[in-house]
Amino acid sequence: AARTKMERKKHLQPHAVLIPLPLQGHINPFTHLAVKLASKGFTITFVGTELTHKQIATAQSLKDDNNPFSHAQKSGLDIRYAKISDGFPLSFDRRANASQFMEGLTHVFQAHVDDFIENLVLSKPNPPISCLIADSFHVWASTIAKKYNLVNVSFWTEPATVLTVFYHMDLLKSNGHFGCHDKCEDTIRYIPGVQAIKPEDLPSYCQDADPSARYVFKCIEDAQSADFVIGNTVHELESSAISALQEQQPFYAIGPVFPTSFSKRTISTSLLPASDYTNWLNSKQDGKLLYISFGSLANLSKQDILEIAQGILTSKVSFIWVIRHNILVSGERNILPLGFEEETADRGLVVPWCSQLAVLSHPAVGGFLTHCGWNSILESMWCKVPMLCLPVLADQLTNRKLVVDDWKIGVNLCTGRLIRREVVAENIGKIMSKSDESRKNIEKTKMILQNALSNEGSSEKNLNQFIEDMKNKILQN
Ligand code: UDP
Repeated sequence: AARTKMERKKHLQPHAVLIPLPLQGHINPFTHLAVKLASKGFTITFVGTELTHKQIATAQSLKDDNNPFSHAQKSGLDIRYAKISDGFPLSFDRRANASQFMEGLTHVFQAHVDDFIENLVLSKPNPPISCLIADSFHVWASTIAKKYNLVNVSFWTEPATVLTVFYHMDLLKSNGHFGCHDKCEDTIRYIPGVQAIKPEDLPSYCQDADPSARYVFKCIEDAQSADFVIGNTVHELESSAISALQEQQPFYAIGPVFPTSFSKRTISTSLLPASDYTNWLNSKQDGKLLYISFGSLANLSKQDILEIAQGILTSKVSFIWVIRHNILVSGERNILPLGFEEETADRGLVVPWCSQLAVLSHPAVGGFLTHCGWNSILESMWCKVPMLCLPVLADQLTNRKLVVDDWKIGVNLCTGRLIRREVVAENIGKIMSKSDESRKNIEKTKMILQNALSNEGSSEKNLNQFIEDMKNKILQN
């Protein structure tokens, strides 16, 4: 019987349904996870929402019958693509009505996913679906996996350190460190896998009891019951946090999950259109350009933008600055100081969105002023660009601590929450300097990432181990 099982395992072709949270920072790693798994023999059904599909199709000018994976499909990967409604009309403003949207993701979206999977099962796909890989930020993953007898895999798209903090919320509460940020000078040393952390560096959800926090905690509770968690991180970067997680649940660090070489054929799932800025970047000196972007969601106040702009003027640095059209700054469209763009026309470019990996990997870029989104950090490490950190919310606060205090591959834009133009100018000078220690350290972290992805590297081995363990689990199901 053992032999039969081994034979079955050898021929087993898993079919996984992948469902990201419909946000840019989640769709990107999910897309590349789909490609990674498909190139290891999986059949993938990737589920987007109608809205994200429309945004991707518009941004990438996809033809009607096309989908973002068509190149991958042509090269033989079995990635099937589907879209379902998130429960809201396309015109509904999800950003402005965030709590209503999250409520919808909890119940209405679950019902749509349920219908989708039911129909998929009834259609008897070949091979049959055996596994659900849902974003850890979906509250319903375990319910759906159980209902359809699927192996339940949770994909965690943030650092392992953040997950171990979330898993020990009870400790934060019992020690009075939940919601105590500004007032509290303590150093927290009791979270398994986290050596020392200040309350102000905890994810914002541990600091404010807002509606998103309640949603996040429900998701974390659900993720704790997953059969496996795969994380977009690297063992050598976060070994103690990862070991702590493995005490609780099978956790595999398989990152970084993004395209490591970029070409026109690289799949883009950008939700916003991006122009090609290569010619402009080519006109700039190597290593002298500051790239500025606060990701797809974070918003700054008008005063913060003003202080940053004044700091840029004083520092005289060349820059490319992403200011999204949907950035909400007291409802105002023109958020840069009057005359700023004219004054910096010879050395600066303000753009609504860009292909971030194309920009970061250009030799002109020598520093990145970032909100510390986890994808941005991994991408910056990969391109060896040291960071100037201005975290805004969520995991970004903890990510900043990892970048600046632990790995020393970046510096704070300002200390504390107050942004002052003189400090901005000073720190821009620091991060752009050839001799800054962050620049030397980031060379080492790049090597860590690169080694992790090599044949004998930790992430590659973990991915293979995960696949092996998952196949065993499928056979038991
Ligand atoms: N991104 C991009 N163009 C931009 C800004 C961001 O392509 O102008 C991409 C970036 O490469 C990253 C993702 O959007 O993969 C943002 O994810 P991150 O975790 O950094 O931040 P979030 O948007 O989730 O806050």
